[in-house]
Amino acid sequence: MAETHFFEQVNKNFDRAAAFLKYPKGLLDQIKACNTVCHFTFPLKKDDGTIETIHAWRAEHSHHKLPTKGGIRYSLMVNEDEVKALAALMTYKCAVVDVPFGGAKGGVKIDRSKYSESELERITRRFTFELVSKRFIGPDIDVPAPDYGTGEQEMAWIVDTYKAIDPSLNAEGCVTGKPVGLGGIRGRTEATGRGVYFGIREAVSNKDDMKDIGLETGLEGKTVIVQGFGNVGYHSVKYLQEAGAVIIGIIEYNGGLYNEKGIDIEAVDKHRKEHNTIITYPGAKVIENPKAMLEMECDILVPAALESQITAENAPRIKAKIIAEGANGPTTQEGHDIIKKRGALIIPDNYLNAGGVTVSYFEWLKNLSHVRFGRMDRRFEENAARRMLEAMMVLTDRRITEDELNRISAGADERDIVDSGLEDTMITAYNEINELRKFHDTDLRTAAFISAIKKVGHIYERMGIFP
Ligand code: GLU
Repeated sequence: MAETHFFEQVNKNFDRAAAFLKYPKGLLDQIKACNTVCHFTFPLKKDDGTIETIHAWRAEHSHHKLPTKGGIRYSLMVNEDEVKALAALMTYKCAVVDVPFGGAKGGVKIDRSKYSESELERITRRFTFELVSKRFIGPDIDVPAPDYGTGEQEMAWIVDTYKAIDPSLNAEGCVTGKPVGLGGIRGRTEATGRGVYFGIREAVSNKDDMKDIGLETGLEGKTVIVQGFGNVGYHSVKYLQEAGAVIIGIIEYNGGLYNEKGIDIEAVDKHRKEHNTIITYPGAKVIENPKAMLEMECDILVPAALESQITAENAPRIKAKIIAEGANGPTTQEGHDIIKKRGALIIPDNYLNAGGVTVSYFEWLKNLSHVRFGRMDRRFEENAARRMLEAMMVLTDRRITEDELNRISAGADERDIVDSGLEDTMITAYNEINELRKFHDTDLRTAAFISAIKKVGHIYERMGIFP
């Protein structure tokens, strides 16, 4: 599939779901359309004094809720079609997990490894300036976040630039995924991967669904191959491994690692930090052709890199029983249909990778409320639990140690609250789309689209269309 057809792919999935619903065509067309998209070009003065023209985009797919929300990616694959497709996926993803944002996405067409730190800083700050001047960023307008090829550092430059231009009360809420010291929230970095883990855990806990694909319930002993060892891929398999799954393969763009006995994820991460690559990690076999690893035998395949990885071409050879989409758009519709026909379970991106934006929502709420979660009630909760335990000790004439008392009565801090909100979100949304799947006798992707179309469609219906 050509990359320029990504938005069409998203819309094909939308249309398939819309066929189950009774909305007028005009309304469906409005939901599908990308409301605004801006192509920016600006000059970068490189360290050697030469000047390069940088191309960047921001697409705001739907304004049915404000602000719009979605990451900014740095990749050579970025183009207008890609940001529109990814912005649309953000709209549907937010709706599926009840995060009250419209969808957006931005991208800068660069290979970040070709630029120095200070060049990346100049690109990011200038792009932010462009976004401000075109009103494509702001805590109540459009709030970017990290995506492929960006992270905390870029978000720090964005918030700093934004605040320099608009030092208003809620300015920190102009972007999420920031370092904690600059208004970020604990738990955001790992949120997408953690959400992927919660989603898979929920799926494999369902007895009937597992029986349908010939698997036992639970994660213990399940074999996993992950594609992409970036923020999403790494955190997804880290939590899966902690829960007892066996990570047998890691696929990176420059090669893969394979060990049927399992690969120690923390050791690979440490190796990567020391050597800048995972491929020289000694505890696994190196596989020269990484893409072919998607076709190896495993229970769960987690594509957590880029779009269009599972297509009509390779889908017939993919053997995994569960495809858990950590990336956005990793499976084309043709690829999806082949996998589904074989009877495997696809846990779709527009649900499964929503953990990132869910915790972004919590970060944005924190920025608007100017208070850390847990700050007002943690001690109160702790004291209440302590009083209760002390009363029980008197009543039962039994004593517990001071250490135990502290452990049992501990109040929730920011990280605990974020994690609990994320877990609840992923569990609730899974069951919601799984019910819709059964009701309409369809697959989870179509069910997630049905859920999103109903929620967005309801808003359009109720607010009417401005004349
Ligand atoms: N880039 C992430 C995504 O695709 C996170 C977006 C956000 O937090 O706004 O979901």
